[in-house]
Amino acid sequence: MAILILKSGKEKSLLRRHPWLFAGSVERLEGRARPGDTVDVVSAEGRWLARGSYSPASQIRARVWAFDENEAVDHAFFKRRIAASIARREALPELAGQQGLRLIHAESDGLPGVTADRYGDTVVLQLTSVGADKWRAAIADSLHKATGCARIYERSDSGVRAMEGLAAATGWLLGAAPEDGIVIDEHGVRMAVDVVAGHKTGFYLDQRDNRRRLAGLAAGRRVLNCFCYTGGFSLQALAGGAREVVSVDSSGPALVTARQNLALNPQLDPACALWREADVFEELRARKKADESFDIVVLDPPKFAPSAKHAERAARAYKDINLAALRLIASGGFLMTYSCSGGIGLELFQSIVAAAVLDAGRSARIVSRLQGAADHPVSLAFPEGEYLKGLLLQVD
Ligand code: SAH
Repeated sequence: MAILILKSGKEKSLLRRHPWLFAGSVERLEGRARPGDTVDVVSAEGRWLARGSYSPASQIRARVWAFDENEAVDHAFFKRRIAASIARREALPELAGQQGLRLIHAESDGLPGVTADRYGDTVVLQLTSVGADKWRAAIADSLHKATGCARIYERSDSGVRAMEGLAAATGWLLGAAPEDGIVIDEHGVRMAVDVVAGHKTGFYLDQRDNRRRLAGLAAGRRVLNCFCYTGGFSLQALAGGAREVVSVDSSGPALVTARQNLALNPQLDPACALWREADVFEELRARKKADESFDIVVLDPPKFAPSAKHAERAARAYKDINLAALRLIASGGFLMTYSCSGGIGLELFQSIVAAAVLDAGRSARIVSRLQGAADHPVSLAFPEGEYLKGLLLQVD
């Protein structure tokens, strides 16, 4: 096995069990390693630190598989890690019976570059690092055996693969597309999941509990759901008894699916749902001009800041939409606002929203801080895993 030798004093983050080793910390590679090969990482003084996958193309030069010198990285390793990841979820009663469930949350589950979501009897696998890519067969086999799922679809088309020197890889690794499509039940609402063409692995599972939170607030209220995608928040608001739900997204195909999802739920009244294909920034301003008001506005925009270097521009965009949304909220109403940008931390996000509240001439208080559901855990050693943050505000 080749060895990555660190520069003097560069072992601190690994000693804190952070799973990324940046190129700038590496003195040299001793021996030969191809992309994705397992290498040992040692300090300048020769102390063994970790075992990880080598990625010469990436600034993240290695991602740690193991912090235990006795743990080999082989088929059995993936079988153990995947079983442990699934067992962690089985131990959480709040996740019991979920048909849509994240089984592996990458770094946070000790499997850098590996994401797996289960939708009924289909598992969708996303591999985003060259190390994970190399172990595809072992990972898929372990997932199949651990879940008994009849289908595994690979959805490795995330843009971040390019940074690892990888092309997109998609297709059925096991079984074939179910004829009737894939539908999951989420807190009593049926939702279609397009694993081939939908966003991420097909669905935003991370917002599951936040959608239910909206349902609990929605009775009798007029709701504006911005960036609605396939209608997850919209349908939960309707299920919660909203008087009217206006949903906005710029994607025509997402809105087609949203309407189909509504039709999958005959208990919900389509007369209460309005769908708008539009840019949210423009739509919010147009509705203010028309003197409209809402009791609840949901803002769940796409990632404006993929990393910290985009934070400044992203901050302006978050401020803009939050300000425009606040101008539409009736006195005593609610703003449910999110950022899924890794580059914007919770504190920064809260200060952006606070500035928007001030500029809107309103006052507001935090009812709840919101985060991803329990199947999207955040490892304390890997704070970068905390990408989704939200605030539920009550606005005077
Ligand atoms: N809330 C959704 C997920 C939102 S994903 C859920 O719970 O499932 C972000 C969505 O924003 C995508 O559907 C994308 O089409 C939409 N979008 C991106 N930019 C937009 C814009 N400027 N105006 C309107 N919609 C936009």
